[in-house]
Amino acid sequence: MALFDVRPKSRREELFDREKELGELGSAVSRGYPLVLLLGIRRIGKTSILRTFLGDVPGIYIDMRGVVRRQDLEARVADYVSEHLDRFRRFLSGVRGVSIAGLSIEFRWRGRDSISFLGLLEELNKRGERFAIVLDEVQHARPPLSAELRNAIAYAYDNLENITFIIAGSEIGMVRDFLRLDDPSSPLYSRHVHEIAVERFGRDLSREFLYRGFREEGVEPPKEAIEEAINFFDGIVGWLVLFGRSYVDGARDFSHIKRLAIETALQELNKLTNREKAVLKAVAHGCKNWSCIRDFIAEQHGILIPKSTLSRIIDKLEKLSIIKDYTFLDPVYKEASKNLHTAPT
Ligand code: ADP
Ligand code: MG
Repeated sequence: MALFDVRPKSRREELFDREKELGELGSAVSRGYPLVLLLGIRRIGKTSILRTFLGDVPGIYIDMRGVVRRQDLEARVADYVSEHLDRFRRFLSGVRGVSIAGLSIEFRWRGRDSISFLGLLEELNKRGERFAIVLDEVQHARPPLSAELRNAIAYAYDNLENITFIIAGSEIGMVRDFLRLDDPSSPLYSRHVHEIAVERFGRDLSREFLYRGFREEGVEPPKEAIEEAINFFDGIVGWLVLFGRSYVDGARDFSHIKRLAIETALQELNKLTNREKAVLKAVAHGCKNWSCIRDFIAEQHGILIPKSTLSRIIDKLEKLSIIKDYTFLDPVYKEASKNLHTAPT
């Protein structure tokens, strides 16, 4: 079981395609670019690319989801390094605040002879080898940690020539808001950023992915099922994996698998506010401008949302990478949005 494994991939053999993205990341790091952005919608395969990349290039992967305080960040660093200790031995042995004993490593983040996150970056930089720090789903960072991170990134940008920060996230506008490249008061103001966009697979690549996945599993679905999946899931690899996995596990009815996917998307959309949901529902039903949305919501709920409020909501939904120009970026989210229960207040 490999291609249809639902966890993010971390080995080259399990990662389908993405040579271009891995190559771009590789050259960005080897050229010493200080700041790289890897952007793409949810389930497009960012984490898989990043984890696989770090199999070849020294670096630390940090998932920012659930990281609230600095201690959480430190714990994530320690966890990643412990899990891949062999790779880090040469970078960290003899460093103050870090003790390596056999198969375990311990960081002292506080008190005497401790090391800070910034101190760790300085030590890694001194080894004279290129090193990547990956912050995945960075838009989850909240103040004061978000400000500390911007400062650390800016400091590394100016002073640590061997460190490349790779910043990734699914909510693309939110990632940009985190960086504040256009804000004169931000430490990252007007810095150069190398951007890499992770795109969906085209039809041919989607087909090849599914055939290869099914071959691995020794299952041969009818051509129609595969074509249906290609049509509906629009090259978003995470959904293709869900389709493949469910089919292999015995779900033979496409509409059942489709419902499963929509249910998953619904759970994610339910985190939105009622007004945001109402707007999405209007867009899912075909609205292509704000006045159509306003009328749709007025008809459904009997309330008139002011234009300024509506623009703000649309802006937010775009920043979350759910819609762009009144079009859904993920067809599963579109279907799910049609079914949203909304009661705007
Ligand atoms: P993202 O981080 O963009 O949300 P993930 O890397 O978590 O996406 O991938 C979503 C799903 O798709 C996971 O099940 C993962 O295993 C699978 N996947 C992503 N990219 C690939 C790939 N190139 N080859 C095989 N499976 C992939
Ligand atoms: Mg991810």
